[in-house]
Amino acid sequence: MTEDLFSAEIRGAIKAAQADVCALHAYLPKSGLVAWTSGNVSARVPGADLMVIKPSGLEYEQLTPESMVVCDLDGNVVEGGYKPSSDTGSHAYVYRNMPEVGGVVHTHSGYATAWAARGEPIPCVLTAIADEFGGEIPVGPFALIGDATIGEGIVATLSGSNSPAVLMRNHGVFTIGKSARAAVKAAVMVEDVARTVHLARVHGEVRPLDSADIKALHDRYTNAYGQNGEK
Ligand SMILES: [Zn+2]
Repeated sequence: MTEDLFSAEIRGAIKAAQADVCALHAYLPKSGLVAWTSGNVSARVPGADLMVIKPSGLEYEQLTPESMVVCDLDGNVVEGGYKPSSDTGSHAYVYRNMPEVGGVVHTHSGYATAWAARGEPIPCVLTAIADEFGGEIPVGPFALIGDATIGEGIVATLSGSNSPAVLMRNHGVFTIGKSARAAVKAAVMVEDVARTVHLARVHGEVRPLDSADIKALHDRYTNAYGQNGEK
């Protein structure tokens, strides 16, 4: 029997993260956020400097827990039979620089990416935006795909922002969360509000929310809403 690279505890955490990330990928096509193989979810492995992420180019129906690639926080593959997502370097950069983040999601969901194509933040004009994003949903810089440059733009834009979502200019959406599930939820919500604000603007100007109301809504939602801290 070959010796495991990891302790039983870390091995258990890796397996749990792989199962979680595999299952969470189902929300992307189900919520209409992705076309073909675009989009990806990753999770930090608690207790280790590791992450698990979608393999590159596999269709959503082909994903299994075992196919989720284990990488270190520099984006190097530690274990797995597939190449990891081409966004791995950027996910890893986020985990290295935002220790509170446990999950990262990327999509090119249509309405939100249309805002990214214009380089226009989504204004905070709905209670749902105040609740979930605590203000406007910001735009991050344009960056080429492949290394950690996108990650630098995500961290620079989201550090000090209430928003768990950033619209990366001319590209798409990245979301972060305490867990991968929270990041998936933010990806679903950003597309939902991007669509609503788009529809509102078809027939006229949108009305901004007062900043004191935004703060009150965000505080209530962050601290009081939901069951046992689940949002
Ligand atoms: Zn992309």
